[in-house]
Amino acid sequence: MKINALVATDAAQPLSSSQIALRPLQQQDVKIEILYCGVCHSDLHMARNEWAVSRYPLVPGHEIVGRIVETGTAVDKFAAGDIVGVGVMVDSCRECHFCKQQEEQYCEAGFTATYNGIDKYTGESTWGGYAQNVVVDQDFVVSVPQHLPLSGVAPMLCAGVTVWSPLRHYNVQAGTRVGVVGLGGLGHMAVKLASALGAEVTLFTTSPEKGEDARRLGARHVVVSRDAEQMASAQTTLDLIIDCVAAPHDLDPYLATLKTNGRLVLVGIPDRPHLSPNITPMVFRRLSISGSSIGSIKETQEMLDFCGKHNITADVEMIAGEDIEQAFARMLKGDVKYRFVIDMQRTRW
Ligand code: NAP
Ligand code: ZN
Ligand code: ZN
Repeated sequence: MKINALVATDAAQPLSSSQIALRPLQQQDVKIEILYCGVCHSDLHMARNEWAVSRYPLVPGHEIVGRIVETGTAVDKFAAGDIVGVGVMVDSCRECHFCKQQEEQYCEAGFTATYNGIDKYTGESTWGGYAQNVVVDQDFVVSVPQHLPLSGVAPMLCAGVTVWSPLRHYNVQAGTRVGVVGLGGLGHMAVKLASALGAEVTLFTTSPEKGEDARRLGARHVVVSRDAEQMASAQTTLDLIIDCVAAPHDLDPYLATLKTNGRLVLVGIPDRPHLSPNITPMVFRRLSISGSSIGSIKETQEMLDFCGKHNITADVEMIAGEDIEQAFARMLKGDVKYRFVIDMQRTRW
């Protein structure tokens, strides 16, 4: 089944419209007409081969919202016409310890990524959401709360769940003091979700002009990270920090803002390492540094249900597919308010 998609052919070329073949519908599959797809910084890292794992041709996109247009014979969770979401995973081994406890994102065999993964039926690449359609096993599809604006739901399928998972895993609740580093796609969802969970949120930003937005999104405090005085005023105030920055930086100033027993969770994945942190304060104040990978299908559904209840969606700037390179360029400058979303119906293939 041939469809139109935005394809990267190598790291140096702009994305361009071209045709790809989706796998034939399997018994457990649904075919989705994609309405919106968010533009994650990971798409940019992958299109440009910044993690040195890209295989071309490559179709990015793992923040997908769309309508089911066809179902396989064994599909029992969804029906044609349902509005659904697909995030970063489209399959996993389903047998390992982590799959069995519904943490497929840590599958021991590695989950099948929505794009640049290996399709277990065809042995070929999986194709992402910068496209007209996607075919996905029903177990990796989530339901979308109907009353939310769908363009603002798309970014929650990666950006939303990636910050939701550590917020929940570390039990953020009313009164927890949470720091968020970087007000981009992930960061702005972290501010919204942490404050909706009742946390007192401090946003660290390199962009002083984002302060007003950060407060509107739910931050109680805004700290310009390049201002040493402002950083000093935040010392030993926080329980947990979610670091959403897409570039290498010094972690020590953020560790200094943690209380004893505090934790810095890194979700940003820069193409080069951060400087090694200073270990001494980590030892004497029992600080932790962790990573966290997206979130499970179960957590994705929980997060969407929570957002449905609290009327939370991403703040988005809509683009057509042909605007993607401009969007990437602005993203590199930290100039996104706060997620680009491709409108497939406006896209000229
Ligand atoms: P984004 O929208 O581009 O936001 C990144 C933000 O980081 C910027 O808006 C900026 O905020 C801040 N920043 C500070 N210095 C920067 C610099 N030199 N270069 C770029 N950004 C800088 O990116 P995103 O889509 O939120 O993704 C953030 C990172 O998370 C990426 O590395 C992405 O690959 C990764 N990611 C990881 C997971 C996971 O499972 N762990 C999932 C999705 C994405 P200020 O202007 O406020 O400083
Ligand atoms: Zn992503
Ligand atoms: Zn597994």
